[in-house]
Amino acid sequence: MDTYKAALVIGSEKIAIGELPVPELKAGEVWVRLQCANLCPTDLKKFYHLDSKSASLLSEDVPVVLGHEASGYVAAVAPDVDQIKPGTRVAIDPMLPCYECVYCEDEDYPLCKNLKGIGISAGSVSDAIHLLDEQGIGGCFAEYVKVPARNLFVLPDGISYEQAALMEPLADVLHSIEAGNPKPGETAVVFGLGAMGLMHIRVLSSMGITNLIGVDPLQNRREKALAFGASEVVDPGSANPVEVILAATKGLGAELIFVCAGGNAQKVCTDQALKAIRKKGRVLLYASALKPADMPIDINHIHYGLITLTGTVGFYRRHAEQAIQLIMSGEVDVDQIRTPIFTLDEIAEAFSISGKDDVVKVGLDLR
Ligand SMILES: [Zn+2]
Ligand SMILES: [Zn+2]
Repeated sequence: MDTYKAALVIGSEKIAIGELPVPELKAGEVWVRLQCANLCPTDLKKFYHLDSKSASLLSEDVPVVLGHEASGYVAAVAPDVDQIKPGTRVAIDPMLPCYECVYCEDEDYPLCKNLKGIGISAGSVSDAIHLLDEQGIGGCFAEYVKVPARNLFVLPDGISYEQAALMEPLADVLHSIEAGNPKPGETAVVFGLGAMGLMHIRVLSSMGITNLIGVDPLQNRREKALAFGASEVVDPGSANPVEVILAATKGLGAELIFVCAGGNAQKVCTDQALKAIRKKGRVLLYASALKPADMPIDINHIHYGLITLTGTVGFYRRHAEQAIQLIMSGEVDVDQIRTPIFTLDEIAEAFSISGKDDVVKVGLDLR
């Protein structure tokens, strides 16, 4: 086999199925036959909102491959790799930290100053062009991907490829929830009920948080949130979420609020979160916006209220291990989240329906 099939991004909103040369395996590297993958908002951003400079670098001769949430099995390993064998079922950590900077020294890999990622999950498009062209490292919307062995999580027998493809986003969510440190009896709120917000709801509910409010303008997402364990949902188009949260908490506000709404909604939801947070409460900023957004903050409110305002990005190894356990336990029902499913050949359609009202998270079957 000299080539493998991949979905090539060849320009702004241009994707085509093509062949890439099978790369050589260098020290520490593994060749993975991918089985399942998902589209993530990061993929959508890189597909629909490529800046003109990045877009101008791409062509049929100079493509990139998106996709970083995936599972598969080891097809081949470099001669020096002895910790993992061909045939082993794996999920992929897409992050490629430098292992040299001050953050990497502290094992804070999500904060690496030179972070790159498989499938452009971190770093620039020119980084991704470089990775593919020079090192043969592409993305997961493909039959195969080359990854460092240390980026693989070995799957226990009880977990399917479909389930394992959700490890990466769920690990991100578990990092966020760990930072929020929910305690039984507290009221928690999730702004934005896309796939990530819904997973926040599901995990919080599984942790015994029973006062759990979800906020989203889309009705089918609110319905899903109720099915996932939310005790109350708010349509910000018909009620002011701040008033609803205050009314639900005897006027005190919620102890814990996650902002999982990105894009244009990020700013308004963060503003509402800061108004609906209880004294000593924690506001966790999970979602990102395409362009940096600024907003006025009442500093005295933070100061006198002992309010914690923070964010999380990426995950640590423990979160990935927890994610695998949580999926295996059935607490997180992947079929409810990873829907609908397309084949690699249908990738353009998969992109076109992502973000639609009734879509939670588009999955790809790469077998
Ligand atoms: Zn992702
Ligand atoms: Zn680093």
